[in-house]
Amino acid sequence: MVMPELPTKTGSQYDLIISGAGPAGCMAALALRESGLKVCLIDKATFPRDKVCGDAIPGRAVKALFSLHPEFEARFNVFKPKLSTRKTALHYKNRDISFDWVGAAYTSARIDFDNFLFELTQEFAKTEIHTDCHITSVQKENEGFSLATKHGQTFTCKMLIGADGAHSVIAKQLATRTIDRLNHVGSVRAYYANIQGLDPNTTEVFFDKRYLPSYMWVFPLPGNTANVGFGMLSDTIVKRKVNLKKVFYEFIEETPLLKHRLANATQTSALEGFGLPLGATDVTISGTRYLLTGDAASLIDPISGDGIGNAMLSGKLAAEQAIRCFESNDFSAEFIKEYDRLLFSRIGSELKTHYYARRILAGAPMLLDAVFRAAGNPLLKKLIQKGL
Ligand SMILES: Cc1cc2nc3c(=O)[nH]c(=O)nc-3n(C[C@H](O)[C@H](O)[C@H](O)COP(=O)(O)OP(=O)(O)OC[C@H]3O[C@@H](n4cnc5c(N)ncnc54)[C@H](O)[C@@H]3O)c2cc1C
Repeated sequence: MVMPELPTKTGSQYDLIISGAGPAGCMAALALRESGLKVCLIDKATFPRDKVCGDAIPGRAVKALFSLHPEFEARFNVFKPKLSTRKTALHYKNRDISFDWVGAAYTSARIDFDNFLFELTQEFAKTEIHTDCHITSVQKENEGFSLATKHGQTFTCKMLIGADGAHSVIAKQLATRTIDRLNHVGSVRAYYANIQGLDPNTTEVFFDKRYLPSYMWVFPLPGNTANVGFGMLSDTIVKRKVNLKKVFYEFIEETPLLKHRLANATQTSALEGFGLPLGATDVTISGTRYLLTGDAASLIDPISGDGIGNAMLSGKLAAEQAIRCFESNDFSAEFIKEYDRLLFSRIGSELKTHYYARRILAGAPMLLDAVFRAAGNPLLKKLIQKGL
């Protein structure tokens, strides 16, 4: 794309700053690579960095990446530390059902996958990158923002993409975001080696009627390892004073199939926790001169917990909106709202449906029995799979 000559400033002044180099931030930087804008990508971590996650990489994530350039698809195809997952098996009350997935999906430890995206960004995006650079505050100025960091640096920009995750400083300070415990999940995960009967192409989910609609996941990873995790609505955690780490081990101990399969497995990492801001369509995700993406915009699927796909899609759409803003020299909230419209036209109804499905299942756990019964019928099984 040919861009009009754009005024840029020198030093630590930019046209656009992206806060956070996770999937949303890297995707935005990659989508801006030919914009001609002076872009800066800032992350508090140094890479490779880990992120507590289930490590399931949804098809939407790779589709968004491939849509930018065929070379990115070629690079992903030769990226080794991943498995291709084709099936999900659900286990409940000694019954199992499984669904075959039509589209591509993968698992890859986030330390590897995020580093893959980060290196791609270093190579292809004409972006200045600052790591080990913790943004502590954002200040509105006449024609943009000024960002302050822990180490006393100041960065200024005309436009800002907030991609700094679930605890986003940008979302808190510009969109006055707080945690909505009724739409937020607290989760823990650990890595295990040598789980019995692990199929490298199947992600597994275990339910227990005491914790519905929560579940434990076992997602296979390369080298006969797996990511094992459990999450619960934050409101329930607080109200019932749940110790999530304790429940994690109790869940394994009290689920005969899991206990049996993990009997000779080794836990190879600490059990670590992190929050999931579930997707909603009524939160502020943009305003004058700024856009929020990924977890900073609360875009995680309320049923599957997948957030990487929506993070990458939103990163791409935010970058495209930013380009339109510079082309039209219009940074108004009204103009930027086009981003909200385009994003929610893609994922809004899915987020809403899954939000209500989660609430219904929480209120009527017996529905899961019905799902397992219905899955015996091939036609109904197809419908369930479509709904998921
Ligand atoms: C336990 C758990 C399991 C999950 N399982 C899955 C799954 O299996 N599949 C799936 O698709 N999704 C899953 N998710 C959700 C997924 O992890 C997120 O949706 C995804 O990481 C969002 O990407 P992001 O780029 O928005 O944020 P992040 O990946 O969190 O990246 C944000 C980046 O911003 C940086 N940053 C943060 N604050 C600052 C600051 N102040 N200054 C500078 N930099 C900053 C961070 O260092 C980080 O690199 C899971 C989440 C959890 C917690």
